[in-house]
Amino acid sequence: MFTTTKDRALLTTTTGALPRPTWYTANLRGMPLSQGFSQQAYREQHFDCLACHVAAQHRAGIDIYVDGDTRLDDDVAGRSWVSYATERIEGIGAPRVEVPPAGFMADKGPGDLMWEVIETRMTPPVIGKIGAASLQLDRAYKAIAPMTDRPVKIGSISAQILALMLTDEHYKGDRFQLLMDLSAALNRDYHALADTGAPLIQIEEPAIHQIIADPNQKIRPEKWVEAFNAEVKGLRGKCEVWCHTCWGSPAAQRVASQNQSYKAALPYFDQLDVDVITVEGAFNNGMDLEHFGTMIGKDKKIALGVISHRTLQVERPEEVADLIRRALKHIEPERLILTSDCGFGRQSASRMHATYKMIALVRGTNIVRKELGLPEAYIPGADPKLSMVPMAKG
Ligand SMILES: [Zn+2]
Repeated sequence: MFTTTKDRALLTTTTGALPRPTWYTANLRGMPLSQGFSQQAYREQHFDCLACHVAAQHRAGIDIYVDGDTRLDDDVAGRSWVSYATERIEGIGAPRVEVPPAGFMADKGPGDLMWEVIETRMTPPVIGKIGAASLQLDRAYKAIAPMTDRPVKIGSISAQILALMLTDEHYKGDRFQLLMDLSAALNRDYHALADTGAPLIQIEEPAIHQIIADPNQKIRPEKWVEAFNAEVKGLRGKCEVWCHTCWGSPAAQRVASQNQSYKAALPYFDQLDVDVITVEGAFNNGMDLEHFGTMIGKDKKIALGVISHRTLQVERPEEVADLIRRALKHIEPERLILTSDCGFGRQSASRMHATYKMIALVRGTNIVRKELGLPEAYIPGADPKLSMVPMAKG
């Protein structure tokens, strides 16, 4: 159900990951988050990192905050987005060194940056029936929520991505059963988060848009929809449920070699039991705007990426405003949320790039808000009164 975004037009947020401060050197390395929170060095660095992320989002005038995925370890190219989950689900074994790349990366090899990313993934095998997951997302929320009066969105990798990546030594090729067991395990963790009163939960990626063109994919899109809806079952009765989709972010890379269209996946996205679907719009220059308008039902909102996590050049506010105006030709302002295409990565963008991209996101949104007569957000980081050098006159 809509909580935070109910009756609100053109709210701003980002995806989830924010660059890790260099001084944040403590890591969980498989420990429960609760155990990390009981160790002084880890607790102090984790909570101080959250405070930095809150301050950066405040400085940018963002409406819906993220926690920066602060619980994830300092690994190569965001590896911990996956391993945080695989290290904490019963039935999954120890990491393996040799893991074949997914089919949609079949054209990658030595000499490609994505190949080095693949070399570092070390995805573990499933060695027994999937049991309980213990991601402790409720604790992640409780750590940041007292630091701000803004709503905080907590996100996590989906069962769908895990089912795609894990090698199977237990389910004897019945990957759909593996997917359903992972979905049930994570659903219990999401409910623990929702039961804290967290207003927003974000499930990070259905597999549908990545596999839809893969002729070797044994699980058909309808079954991925069925599994996704089992993964989020019951959550919309408690909070606002977001489904993040993108075309890749490890080391700020797109995983396929060309820009891909969402069009074929949208009839399936429309069947997902969620309130908000996030989509890329910045890096691909709004290539699917018309399809989002006609193929996603009015019961869902669209969170459109208007800032790229893949580029170092910070977008000009006018560019952001132009993309929002183009989106408004197809999506009503009450149904449109502005975000980044994906997270800035804990090891991809610098903190300075992420901060100024967030400021550009809100400055651009303010241009359109003003045109529509909507209240503008105050952006402390763009306040001339707080400039440390005199502004040019005229
Ligand atoms: Zn993403």
